[in-house]
Amino acid sequence: MAYKYILKKLKNLIYPSVCPLCNEIIEDRSERICDECKADIPYISSPLCFKCGKEINDADMEYCEDCTKKPKSYIRGFPAMNYVSPVRESVAEFKYHNKSSYADFFSYEILKTHGREIAEIAPEALIPVPVHDKKLKIRGYNQAAVLAKRLSVPLGIRVDEDILKRSINTLPQKLFDPEERQKNLERAFILTEKKVQYKKVMLVDDIYTTGATIEACTKMLKASGIKEIYYTSICIGKGE
Ligand SMILES: [Zn+2]
Ligand SMILES: [Zn+2]
Repeated sequence: MAYKYILKKLKNLIYPSVCPLCNEIIEDRSERICDECKADIPYISSPLCFKCGKEINDADMEYCEDCTKKPKSYIRGFPAMNYVSPVRESVAEFKYHNKSSYADFFSYEILKTHGREIAEIAPEALIPVPVHDKKLKIRGYNQAAVLAKRLSVPLGIRVDEDILKRSINTLPQKLFDPEERQKNLERAFILTEKKVQYKKVMLVDDIYTTGATIEACTKMLKASGIKEIYYTSICIGKGE
């Protein structure tokens, strides 16, 4: 018993658990975030847009302004938190600074807020939004795939990283006006199989901002014959 205790203490010293929201060391390793940050999680509060899952001001509205103006091809989205501080900084760490361990906290929050709905929808596969190979080599991992894998086990849904890939041959978005940007983004994704066996899938990404990426992926997946596409993300931008 004492040996185990010492081992645990030692492990904590060598690999201390760090709060993904404030970077302080967490004493109790069974906790995902520190006590102070628990009260600061920027959850999305009702009323929500029935399409993208964003907070809206008017409870009588079905969709947010963005989804009203630009109809979306996916069925419904399930973001867990608002893309504001401290989640904003935490996601940037997760994405660019090798903090793949933060995926535990993010996947936990997605499951806590939307796990039941996702289980009820029962998608046949979780499809992480792909990054290009070049970026993958620099970062060493695709944060969306790391997240999808953490969600996969408790949900009992497989992760498919193969059917959707990112092409390297796209032109910079700044060369295009807003309408052409969407088309350019659609050219950024490639289907590796022409006909896919799934009927219902869920895209997984870290941040949903304008929704252009999820829309581009949805269009590609629909072209392969998949009828129902949903998405989930760690967070969603509050603005348009
Ligand atoms: Zn904290
Ligand atoms: Zn919306």
